[in-house]
Amino acid sequence: MVENGMTVNVKFKEPRVIGECAGCGGEIVEGETIVEFPDGLMIHYDRYCAMAFCLESGERKTVWK
Ligand SMILES: [Zn+2]
Repeated sequence: MVENGMTVNVKFKEPRVIGECAGCGGEIVEGETIVEFPDGLMIHYDRYCAMAFCLESGERKTVWK
């Protein structure tokens, strides 16, 4: 049996970073499910990120009838 002298390189390729989540501020990497907005903003497809994004971007106000 011939032994392969090469070092086996089974290290996983680092996923490519596509952008930054406007919700949690974390990296959005290839293969993740996201929500993309018309202005190019991206957030993870995640309740936490969606909520964080809304609270960050929206204006807080109290409504009265
Ligand atoms: Zn996020």
